Amino acid sequence: MCHLKNFPQNLIDTVTSSGLISSQLQSSVMQEKPEMPAIEVIRSAKRTKTVQARIVDGQIQVRIPARMSKAEEEKAVGEIVAKLKRRTQSAVSSDADLIERAHKLNKTVLEGRARVESIRWVSNQKGRWGSCTVATAEIRISDRLKHVPDYVLDAVLVHELTHTFIAGHSAEFWEWADKTPLAERAKGYLEAYQRWG
Ligand SMILES: [Zn+2]
Repeated sequence: MCHLKNFPQNLIDTVTSSGLISSQLQSSVMQEKPEMPAIEVIRSAKRTKTVQARIVDGQIQVRIPARMSKAEEEKAVGEIVAKLKRRTQSAVSSDADLIERAHKLNKTVLEGRARVESIRWVSNQKGRWGSCTVATAEIRISDRLKHVPDYVLDAVLVHELTHTFIAGHSAEFWEWADKTPLAERAKGYLEAYQRWG
């Protein structure tokens, strides 16, 4: 299991070191250091052309067509992991980053109405993206959101921040929560992420 706090950095280290990647490719799941995410390559008979990569439990899972040669596999996996790396590089990775982001969103989106008290990443919220204790304005954000585009994280933050001044999901609540830029796109992203990982 990767060390969550250092995960983005470890991920970058892994994918930029070509020697490491190829040694992991040869024997499916192999980790040089326990805190680094491994790359698992799955050959699928159902796939004909497309290659897909995703992060499952801190491990990079790549699905490739069963017919690919070893050389094609190496090239395709290298490319998709680099792509995944670009997508998962978020500037928001510590609790302090979350607080800073929340202050900014409160100002730009919520006209300063939210209470920004305690916001932290948590790893025990498998079924939820975020939660808020209204009485204390304590917000918890699932660390699975460390690997989504910023507009998606922003949408979840604005949702929870809105709860610090409106408890339920009333029409008034959605009026504020949906002020997030790209709110609808973020909802679509999360729906797909929930379903497909
Ligand atoms: Zn809610």
